[in-house]
Amino acid sequence: MNIHEYQAKELLKSYGIPIPPGEIVYSDRAAARVAEELGGTRWVVKAQIHAGGRGKGGGVKLANGPEKVTELADQMIGSTLITEQTGDTGRPVHRVLVERAARIDREFYLGMIVDRVSQRIVIIASAEGGVEIEQVAAERPEAIHKEYVDPGVGLLDFQCRKIATSIGLTNRAVPFTRLLKKMYRLFRDKDCLLLEINPFIVTEEGDMIALDAKMQFDDNALYRQGEVAELRDFDEEDPKEVEASGHGLNYIALDGSVGCIVNGAGLAMATMDAIVVHGGRPANFLDVGGGASPERVAEAFRLVLSDRNVKAILVNIFAGINRCDWVAQGVVQAAAGLKVPLIVRLAGTHAEQGNRIVRDSGLPIISASDLADAAQKAVAAART
Ligand code: GDP
Ligand code: MG
Repeated sequence: MNIHEYQAKELLKSYGIPIPPGEIVYSDRAAARVAEELGGTRWVVKAQIHAGGRGKGGGVKLANGPEKVTELADQMIGSTLITEQTGDTGRPVHRVLVERAARIDREFYLGMIVDRVSQRIVIIASAEGGVEIEQVAAERPEAIHKEYVDPGVGLLDFQCRKIATSIGLTNRAVPFTRLLKKMYRLFRDKDCLLLEINPFIVTEEGDMIALDAKMQFDDNALYRQGEVAELRDFDEEDPKEVEASGHGLNYIALDGSVGCIVNGAGLAMATMDAIVVHGGRPANFLDVGGGASPERVAEAFRLVLSDRNVKAILVNIFAGINRCDWVAQGVVQAAAGLKVPLIVRLAGTHAEQGNRIVRDSGLPIISASDLADAAQKAVAAART
């Protein structure tokens, strides 16, 4: 799960990590009021979307007066922001963060992620902040420093000093160490997958501040992170995926034309592969799960059909705990009045009964004997 910059900054602040003074607003009038309240002579207006690259895309702008703050907020709120990370469709901006502008002396990159290979949290730092870390990694990998944290002992002082030295903050090693430890505690406490401060800055006045913040959380830990779960912004997620999770379905929208209804994530992946092997493209990943009732299957059809790119539907069930006859009932219910070709492959528990239900329905359902046969027929049907 992702959250917005202003929410991540609130969390940083609650752990004692300095952020610029600012407030989130939903209208241009509120933006001007906040600018007045914050005081100062320069402000920054920042579009809040779940994507980075806003600086280059026009979603982070400096203002020299409250009128300019109003103007920028008016431009951004209600607009669609396209950045390198949003794709061509962009993201609608519903709110902006108004901050007192910081005077930057130096910009750094500071990040923490869970590294799967070492099974540890790794701290990543670079003196080349402000730009995409991927770009630095590709062009000047030696400019990136990593420190792996042993979960048994936690983050140690010498590691923080090493990082401080590697990015040219030796003379601030003590406050920097305190700050890194706070970051690490936040990361652990909240079940983060990623915590990125880019840029982390030293101001002309000599203060260290988190000027931008990005946080990602482990979905599987949300059950014990009530406060974090409340920060979820459904506007930033695919509405179909949100609806699916409400029905206990795992649905991920993709860009092909073959809609897939499958039980089990492994079989879903294999089905997608088989479609590609036979020259097609899956329109989605949909796992109806173990106990697929007829109702859940019907719901799955509704979801898949709400995608206009779907030209054929492939139902691929390998029933273990599931029962093919139940799935078949759902399929027959949903298939009445269907406008696109439907290919069904049923195997496993009660496969015979399931296939009989499909056959006896009198509906124009195409049966398939195995995965390859099903994929081939689905790809062919989606073409015509
Ligand atoms: P991103 O492009 O989505 O990562 O958004 P950032 O929050 O990182 O902002 C992009 C860039 O805008 C930063 O790297 C800074 O160079 C600049 N910027 C953001 N806030 C301020 C500020 O308060 N003062 C100044 N001078 N520049 C800022
Ligand atoms: Mg940034």
